[in-house]
Amino acid sequence: MGGSKKGRRHKTVYPDEGKRRCSNCTRVLPIEEFYARNKRPEEGHSSWCRECVIARMRKNRLKKRLAEGREKLVEWIGELKRELKEAKQILEEHDSGG
Ligand SMILES: [Zn+2]
Repeated sequence: MGGSKKGRRHKTVYPDEGKRRCSNCTRVLPIEEFYARNKRPEEGHSSWCRECVIARMRKNRLKKRLAEGREKLVEWIGELKRELKEAKQILEEHDSGG
């Protein structure tokens, strides 16, 4: 009976302790950038970073809007443009006013 060495199991290589690679954008990010349920590497099939998850959710929401009707999406784009313009204005005011 020789003491067979334990360990040396095949393991996926992870970038660094406390870091993970997003399987969507392939960036290596700190584990905090991933949602808690994806923290364990063993369950990492859908190890998307927060940003990617949010982006996907946003996209899905837009697709839903489009499914409701093209005009709705176009209308909403108009709203966003207005909002963006206002946001820029506020920023400019803020920057110039101190
Ligand atoms: Zn990502």
